[in-house]
Amino acid sequence: MIDTHCHLTFPQLADRVDEVLAAADQAGVERLITIGTTPDDAEAARTIAERYEQVYFAAGVHPHYAPEVSFRDLPRIAELVAHPKCVAFGEMGIDYHYPDPPRHIQHDLFNAQLEVIRYSELDKPIVIHCRKAVDDVLGLIDASGIPGSRFVFHCFTEPPEEIRKVLAIGAMVSFTGIVTYKNAPEVRESALLVPDDRIMIETDSPYLTPEPHRKIRPNEPRYVADTAAHLAQLRETSLSDFVKLTTANAKRFYKID
Ligand SMILES: [Zn+2]
Repeated sequence: MIDTHCHLTFPQLADRVDEVLAAADQAGVERLITIGTTPDDAEAARTIAERYEQVYFAAGVHPHYAPEVSFRDLPRIAELVAHPKCVAFGEMGIDYHYPDPPRHIQHDLFNAQLEVIRYSELDKPIVIHCRKAVDDVLGLIDASGIPGSRFVFHCFTEPPEEIRKVLAIGAMVSFTGIVTYKNAPEVRESALLVPDDRIMIETDSPYLTPEPHRKIRPNEPRYVADTAAHLAQLRETSLSDFVKLTTANAKRFYKID
């Protein structure tokens, strides 16, 4: 399995990465992508990826950090993405779950990152963080002219009518432990609509531990297996076939072997 989205640099995991990776390995997680959320965080992610063969990283600015990051820092993101173990731009996007940061600040930062990507010769994929903002995210992606097939909508939590729009642009979709939660039937409905070649799995650890371990904090990459098992059952396929499929999708999308 590949945990396509985790945060090994966050304080809940950062001081015991050895242990977290050993446990992941035991659970059959052979590759991990640790996602940078600011330029500094992406540098820390790069350090981990340089140290451990099975870890790759991504570099972007998460919308929550929009007020702390200056546009002058964005060239640093482009430099980090050029690193051989950096597999993607991101995470980046728009989040309307909380009133802050203000919408226009999130839009400007996301747009500025899309501009960086448009003028970069690096053809790497882009990890999107999108919460309750599908129309606005798709609008900015469309205006950027970047092909929809380069994007993955990570930690997808929107209902079926929203996932249809995301699938229509050719994007990939990735699911966390939220899909295992009792109170998320609409996320399961969405997960059923994703074609076999467009679905991936992730933990988004240290957050969102899947059932049946939901009470365990922090979440760790090893629990991606629980999300895989849940999705396999939901999609009426065997766990081994589902793991093969999602691993192949992740390797193809992120160009890792
Ligand atoms: Zn994340």
